[in-house]
Amino acid sequence: MIKQLVPANLKEALEMLSKHNCYIMSGGTDLMVQKHVSTGLLPSFDKDVIYVMNLKELDYVKKDDNGNIRIGAATRFTDIERSPLVPEIYKIVIKEIASNNIRNMATMAGNIANASPAGDSLVPLVLNDASVILSSVNGNREVLVRDFVLGVRKIDRKQNEMITEIVLKPQELNYFYRKVGARKAESITKVSLMGGYKIENGIIKDLRIAFGSVSIKVVRSLENENKYIGQKVKELNIDSVIEDYSPLVTPITDQRSNKEYRHKVAMNLLRKFLEEVKGGRNE
Ligand SMILES: Cc1cc2nc3c(=O)[nH]c(=O)nc-3n(C[C@H](O)[C@H](O)[C@H](O)COP(=O)(O)OP(=O)(O)OC[C@H]3O[C@@H](n4cnc5c(N)ncnc54)[C@H](O)[C@@H]3O)c2cc1C
Repeated sequence: MIKQLVPANLKEALEMLSKHNCYIMSGGTDLMVQKHVSTGLLPSFDKDVIYVMNLKELDYVKKDDNGNIRIGAATRFTDIERSPLVPEIYKIVIKEIASNNIRNMATMAGNIANASPAGDSLVPLVLNDASVILSSVNGNREVLVRDFVLGVRKIDRKQNEMITEIVLKPQELNYFYRKVGARKAESITKVSLMGGYKIENGIIKDLRIAFGSVSIKVVRSLENENKYIGQKVKELNIDSVIEDYSPLVTPITDQRSNKEYRHKVAMNLLRKFLEEVKGGRNE
């Protein structure tokens, strides 16, 4: 018999998680679809479900003493987007996720833990070195989002842990973001690219590139980025950057697109971003 667990507070939730092997449900906008059986039938769960969306302690956006923005795991995308504390680049991404009705239920924690290659919030989170706080009865640990997501629906979470907080680290960067989908709303990403850069006196002080939907997880290469930092922006060779990223972008063919199209679009977006960098805002 499947149990529905409805904790009254975080302490109770962590105790329940320490005793039950269960699904964690936040907004349910992914989980309910994954457990969908057929029209007219209830979703089918094969183990207990714990509901964490009603945990008021996890519904907040606040700034800490280090200037980081901390988002409680039960905060809906709509409230994240409305918060004056959240950096604009996240809002740009959130506005293109699903539609108003989904964003009124869905959480960033669910988007991260779902670990879909097409999870849109993962792209700015990885580019900007954001992290998650995982909590259990044994305490908390902080993990960078880029390390937390291991692959398709694979995450670095122990059975007794849940995400309780997301930590955004605001960066002083100029951003570029493109999401390519079939239409404007409720469109799962075919390819996305976020770039971030900072140029001072003609020198590249920071240059970051993250692709979504083109591999098992967000593609970001610190090794490549470190090669470009310190170079004169005028000398940045767009073709050789594209050559560096081409083998890292390994999309699949599925019902939304084929891999050749995705690869081509990803490289076109990268060229567009690099042309903007060379155009030299922030000089
Ligand atoms: C019509 C439609 C359109 C969509 N469009 C987009 C889109 O454009 N872009 C996009 O990125 N996504 C999209 N999605 C997917 C989905 O809405 C998002 O991934 C959403 O952020 C999931 O959040 P949730 O709170 O509903 O997660 P849930 O469905 O509750 O959970 C998702 C996963 O995360 C786990 N989980 C949830 N909360 C926690 C926690 N606190 N700690 C640990 N694990 C947890 C769950 O166990 C589950 O594995 C769409 C979905 C639908 C139905």
